[in-house]
Amino acid sequence: MKYYSTNGKADRATLQEAVVKGLASDKGLFMPEVIKQLPSSFFDKMKDMSFQEIAYTVADAFFGEDIDAASLKKIVYDTLSFDVPLVHVNDNIYSLELYHGPTLAFKDVGARFMSRLLGYFIAKENQKEVNVLVATSGDTGSAVANGFLGVKGIRVFVLYPKGKVSPIQECQFTTLGQNITALEIDGVFDDCQALVKSAFMDDDLNKHMKLTSANSINVARFLPQAFYYFYAVAQLHKLGKKDNIVICVPSGNFGNITAGLFGKKMGLPVSRFIAANNRNDIFFQYLLTSKYTPKASIQTIANAMDVGDPSNFARVLDLYKKSHEAISSEISGCTYTDEQIKETLKECYQKNKYLLDPHGAVAYRALAEFLKPNEVGVFLETAHPAKFKDTVENIIGESVVVPQKLQEFMKGTKQSVQLPKDFDSFKAYLMTK
Ligand SMILES: *Cc1c(COP(=O)(O)O)cnc(C)c1O
Repeated sequence: MKYYSTNGKADRATLQEAVVKGLASDKGLFMPEVIKQLPSSFFDKMKDMSFQEIAYTVADAFFGEDIDAASLKKIVYDTLSFDVPLVHVNDNIYSLELYHGPTLAFKDVGARFMSRLLGYFIAKENQKEVNVLVATSGDTGSAVANGFLGVKGIRVFVLYPKGKVSPIQECQFTTLGQNITALEIDGVFDDCQALVKSAFMDDDLNKHMKLTSANSINVARFLPQAFYYFYAVAQLHKLGKKDNIVICVPSGNFGNITAGLFGKKMGLPVSRFIAANNRNDIFFQYLLTSKYTPKASIQTIANAMDVGDPSNFARVLDLYKKSHEAISSEISGCTYTDEQIKETLKECYQKNKYLLDPHGAVAYRALAEFLKPNEVGVFLETAHPAKFKDTVENIIGESVVVPQKLQEFMKGTKQSVQLPKDFDSFKAYLMTK
């Protein structure tokens, strides 16, 4: 399968090129040339299949032309070594808990899949050693570092702002060792991101080493997220719920929801989507006005969604041939303040005994407000509430139990390399690697 660029000015790429490059040479995002429809027989029997079996069928439609069946199956099964349960919250609302992976956040799925796919190309195609640079304000760094841990032929450098990441998040990428190096930058998140961008544009560095990124613009990271949309619907079918399924996604860069939209194009029976936003409401404004106006991001308590210019919006536009009408007929939006998020998290805990994290709370609220009586709603619970322990404890006034997996990270020894925020120091460091 070939991949084209949403900007239409770059040559078509193979899967391997798209994964290694991340972004097309015209700065567009890669899109698969064909989105295969899955047969109705698959949708009929989905309810009796395991998560891994369902995911493999979807993965085969995306990647089957480029990877032999046994290797692809191994990549899928290896990625999904944890469950994604559908939990009833109240009335006709269900939570798809995506936080049972190694770092307790949904980004584990894409990060693990991408690492194994890159590992496959490196082993099979004599691809040169690849260096992944990732700037993080918390969650992306931990998912990528853990996803890529121990994968042969890949080194990961996680750049994070010194003193600006919570201790729980920090220990998830600074205690790993092996092929993971944590770079503690004396600056803010934007400085880290600027360093990564400058590195990709620097000729000396690119001659010295093969650099790539691992954010949700990479096809190997965002497409595998389609797997759990199919599994969510399968679990509803098992409960006898087949009609008027609505999926609500707490959205920042829109990689997650875009994977769901791909699922719908493949035939997944979902009647509509809701993109739930915190105060960073660029997409919601687009739906209202048909104008896309990026803004500076605003800090909120659902901080993984603090995005002022969602990178995957270009893919949404491309999927719907730039039609505002087509987009608004399948996706609706909403925006909530921190106060509303807090109120919802507290109320849901008191009424339903279900503990949300601040991101899931945004999505749950949208269903509670906008789901029609004949519809059944699923929201994606994207992170474990303990990842936002202080915030959640302040809201509910009770302590939150930290799962064993997170506690294990906190026992490790922190290892990091301290660097100032100027590019010359960063470059000099990488040139010695
Ligand atoms: C990254 C993230 C999101 C936003 O996902 P996008 O794919 O960027 O829209 C939502 N919730 C959590 C917890 C996240 O880490």
